[in-house]
Amino acid sequence: MGDDRSAELATVHSEILSCTKCELHRNRKNAVPGEGPVDAKIVFVGEGPGQNEDEQGRPFVGAAGKLLTELLDSIGLKRSDVFITNIVKCRPPNNRAPRKSEIETCNPYLMSQIRLIKPRIVCALGTPAIATLLGDEYSATRVHGKPMSKDDFMILPMYHPAAALYDASLKEVLVSDFRILKDLLTATTARYGPVVKDEPGTGRETLEKWV
Ligand code: URA
Repeated sequence: MGDDRSAELATVHSEILSCTKCELHRNRKNAVPGEGPVDAKIVFVGEGPGQNEDEQGRPFVGAAGKLLTELLDSIGLKRSDVFITNIVKCRPPNNRAPRKSEIETCNPYLMSQIRLIKPRIVCALGTPAIATLLGDEYSATRVHGKPMSKDDFMILPMYHPAAALYDASLKEVLVSDFRILKDLLTATTARYGPVVKDEPGTGRETLEKWV
C-alpha cells in the first residue's frame, strides 16, 4: 500500500521534473516537486521556489526555509517529519508572484500530492497558497490561525515565513499559529477517525469548536 503510494508520488515528481506545461519551465534550473515522507501527517504549501530552491531543486532551503525549520522545531517537529511543497513547482523569474494561469496549470500536481499523502493537516503559507486552497476571498491577514475543513483534511492558513523576515511582529503570530498546529495535531491524534467534513450547504466550517 505504502509502496504503491511512494511509487505514484515518485511518478508525479518525475512528471514535475520534466514538465513544460507553462512558461515557468523556460527559466528554471530545477523544478522543485517538494520533499518529505509519503505518509506525512502535515503538508506545508508555500508560494513557489526562489533562487536557492531553483538552484538546489529542494523547497524552502533559503532564509524563509531556515525560519520554517525553526518554527517546526518550536513544536517538536523536524523537517523530515513533514512534507513541504509549493503551489507552483518552478521559480517565477525574479521571484515575481506566480500568475493565476501558472497556479492553475500546476495545481493538479499539488492535488495529486495531497491525494497520495493523505495528510491530516495542510498548512497554507501565505495568501497565494491560502487563496489557491480555499478561494480568492481568503487571505493570511483574515484567516491565519483558523483551521478549516476541506474534503477529508484540515487546512491551517498561516502567514508566509518570508513575511516575518520583513516584519518581525509577524514572527510572534507565526509562533502562535504553530502552537495551534501542534494542538490540532494532538487533537487529531487523540481522536483520529472523525475528520470533520464540510457541512452540506455551508461549504467550509471552522474547526475551532472541535479542537
Ligand atoms: N518560499 C516559498 O514559498 N517556497 C519555497 O520553496 C521557498 C521560499
